[in-house]
Amino acid sequence: MTIIDGKKISQEIRNEVKLATERFKQEKGFVPGLAFILVGENPASQSYVKSKGKACEETGFHSITERVPATISEADLLTMIDRFNTNEKIHGILVQLPLPKHIDEQKVIEAISPAKDVDGFHPANVGKMMIGIDTYFPCTPYGIVELLKRSNIDPSGKHVVVVGRSNIVGKPIANMLVQKKQWANAVVTIAHTGAKDISYYTKQADILIAAVGKANAITKEMLKPGVVVIDVGINRIDDPLAKNGSRLVGDVDYEHVKEIASAITPVPGGVGPMTIAMLMVNTLKAAGGKL
Ligand code: NAP
Repeated sequence: MTIIDGKKISQEIRNEVKLATERFKQEKGFVPGLAFILVGENPASQSYVKSKGKACEETGFHSITERVPATISEADLLTMIDRFNTNEKIHGILVQLPLPKHIDEQKVIEAISPAKDVDGFHPANVGKMMIGIDTYFPCTPYGIVELLKRSNIDPSGKHVVVVGRSNIVGKPIANMLVQKKQWANAVVTIAHTGAKDISYYTKQADILIAAVGKANAITKEMLKPGVVVIDVGINRIDDPLAKNGSRLVGDVDYEHVKEIASAITPVPGGVGPMTIAMLMVNTLKAAGGKL
């Protein structure tokens, strides 16, 4: 059984981006630039933006973080995005989600120039992904593809069952893996709350991708021996033995599932760290560079 080490693989990617950025700077005379917009005081969002900013620093990117109050009007936020759209030093724009209720998230996503949409959420980029044209792929699913590739697990011809159909994980990973190309070409099923018996689908999985958002949603009994398990979930559960009374777990009952899986991602240290690494890859690409 292989434990897929996302921490190690993401660090390898970040090192590669750092080297590519040094070469890029020598050739072009500038570095990739990424703008973050953080609306409000959501602690998780603050922590994500901090980690992403730190990754930019380590990688040698230029980055700017605009922190604005949760009371900012939608119009002012759109104006701020537009300023970054025309700023030549900024190649990628990331508005940390979720946004306060009075702001239309979809409007904000669509205000970002598709050329600077390093999150890969703009409908123009989603459409390109859907029809198999190279574009900015959403960072978490992109990270899953890289995890499989760098662990030498080829999805071609395999039955991939994705549990969850969100626009940021479930739908895009299903789309990416169904494409007729290398490191894809899988037969893909997407399961969700509409399924009468989720086990009927999960038991057929050669590769199971859990993006559910519920601890222990996927148990050993729901899977077949030899399955490859990619656990996207990040759930905080109470744990009286942990230092602060809680700990992070995925969507998969890791301790029992690892007894039958051929490979599995842990939480933390699996898919999680890949998201930031792929954001760095997308930003380098937005500036005109590549790995
Ligand atoms: P989401 O938007 O809440 O979507 C969850 C999906 O799971 C929905 O499609 C829902 O179905 C489905 N679902 C929920 N309960 C189910 C059940 N009992 N059986 C079958 N399907 C069920 O969540 P998300 O944004 O995709 O995120 C999923 C998890 O991944 C979360 O824990 C999140 O924190 C984590 N995440 C991690 C990263 C990272 O590692 N960097 C990035 C993004 C998300 P319906 O559509 O029918 O409601």
